[in-house]
Amino acid sequence: MNSSYYKYCIVPQCKSTTIKTPNKLFIYVPNNEQIRKKWLKLARRDDVHSLSRNSRIYFCADHFDISITITDSSVLYHQK
Ligand SMILES: [Zn+2]
Repeated sequence: MNSSYYKYCIVPQCKSTTIKTPNKLFIYVPNNEQIRKKWLKLARRDDVHSLSRNSRIYFCADHFDISITITDSSVLYHQK
């Protein structure tokens, strides 16, 4: 098992991880501070500052119906 492959969804109450839900798509939150802030706000993570700026954080695909306001070209998932 390669632990560096492990991903989990940072959205509160979401239990998706690559172990529990291996078939779920995990979207890497860009390292760009502006974008990251925007995404975390959508996820209602008020504790943004507790996340290291360089940490790898992910959303699972479940949330991409609420996140279509994200217009950053790389991601436009319309699941559901
Ligand atoms: Zn999730």
